[in-house]
Amino acid sequence: MHKNLQKHITNKLFTIISDVAEKHQVQAFIIGGFVRDALLNRPCKDIDVVVLGNGIEIAKSLAKQLGIEGQVTIFKNFGTAMLKYEDMEIEFVGARKESYRKDSRKPIVENGTLADDQNRRDFTINALAINLQREFFGDLLDPFKGIEDLNKKVLRTPLDPTITYSDDPLRMMRAIRFASQLGFEIEKKSLQAISENKNRISIVSMERITDELNKIILSPLPSVGFKLLFETGLLEIIFPQMQKLYGVEIINGKGHKDNFFHTLKVLDNISVNTSNLWLRWAAILHDIAKPPTKRFEEIQGWTFHGHEDKGAKMVPGIFNQFKLPLNEKMKYVQKLVLLHLRPIALVKETITDSAIRRLLFEAGEDIDDLLILCEADITSKNPIKVQKYLDNFKLVRQKLAEVEEKDKIRNWQPPITGEEIMKIFDLKPGREVGIIKNNIREAILEGSIHNNYQEAFDYMIEEGKKMGLKPILSC
Ligand code: ATP
Ligand code: MG
Repeated sequence: MHKNLQKHITNKLFTIISDVAEKHQVQAFIIGGFVRDALLNRPCKDIDVVVLGNGIEIAKSLAKQLGIEGQVTIFKNFGTAMLKYEDMEIEFVGARKESYRKDSRKPIVENGTLADDQNRRDFTINALAINLQREFFGDLLDPFKGIEDLNKKVLRTPLDPTITYSDDPLRMMRAIRFASQLGFEIEKKSLQAISENKNRISIVSMERITDELNKIILSPLPSVGFKLLFETGLLEIIFPQMQKLYGVEIINGKGHKDNFFHTLKVLDNISVNTSNLWLRWAAILHDIAKPPTKRFEEIQGWTFHGHEDKGAKMVPGIFNQFKLPLNEKMKYVQKLVLLHLRPIALVKETITDSAIRRLLFEAGEDIDDLLILCEADITSKNPIKVQKYLDNFKLVRQKLAEVEEKDKIRNWQPPITGEEIMKIFDLKPGREVGIIKNNIREAILEGSIHNNYQEAFDYMIEEGKKMGLKPILSC
């Protein structure tokens, strides 16, 4: 069936590309993600154009036409050229034919036809092309029934899936990522081929794996992707710490919950409330140390004492493994993992102001995110129980808001600086200054004094005197 997609390429840029290609007497086509996303009504600013000829030449000529000559980025090794126009990024490449070697996902490339180029694409829905030739402007080229798959929401490889995944194993991650991101199903024999080829993932760089993993994490229901990673056996290879969360052990008739499925529930829960990648990572890692801290005790049954502490300690290793940034994002995730039990613990006991102040102090400006994590962590098969906990949790939120309003601990700065302490007691920097500072902070958090300058000052004088120091008071 003939299908024309002109209505998806109304930007004048596409007509200009068409004219430039015409002038050079080469054929040009939009291909891949842009076409797929246009048909799915997903906004897409990355446009791939394949030309039957020299892509770099067409890109240069287009830039000249657009008055942005010299603003073309050329990747000579790949034979591609990229330029930016308005908020779009357009990449040009000559049509290519690819063949693969066993030990590398980087193919041997030669010039090819449009059909060759479509053959090398990973999924039928990614092999769709739109003709930019003047007389066929907007015509869809769909050699593998990609449109049908789009409608059926199916991921299918154009060629034999075993060869497709073995050639470039990154495609296994991409399949699972698209399934999660778009809510598509992976065709059965494709899924099988992924399981069979799972060990080939070892030839893919960690950075590329992590890119796809992050896209899975950012998808509307990330559990979809993680379950596929689990079922195909990829999870065990790329993320063994998470795989270990799976399973239930039973001793004396007592079992614990399956922490893998619990973690996925927490991740799905949190994804309703945040699209912050790092907060979602905190959900993934909040119970990561449950397997190594698991004990069975006669009276209590299963315990995971200290899993929050050990979990926080595991974060740097996991970030390093995934080549994630070892910066303040990592520290943020660590902090959330460390503190994830604290807000919910406040539900169970009578809440004292000092417990609230301590939590506010430790969480600082991440307190809101911690509460989102903690709320997402309320999971149970029993909806009445969940509702009860959520209601109790509202009280914690309320109490936190009240104490913060009153005591301003969230962005707490010591009311008395170290310099001031040194001046008052004529001290050099050293242990004593630290002790006094610490004691003032403790007194404020405990509630023995209020969080203001005057009370802190009086307290400092007393503490100093107790330590045998003499204040130099001017006035
Ligand atoms: P997104 O931009 O959302 O990540 P995409 O499908 O556009 O998704 P890109 O990496 O931008 O992904 O690639 C553009 C196109 O190149 C794809 O649509 C697909 O046709 C092709 N492609 C990308 N990676 C591969 C691969 N590993 N194997 C085969 N074809 C690929
Ligand atoms: Mg893209």
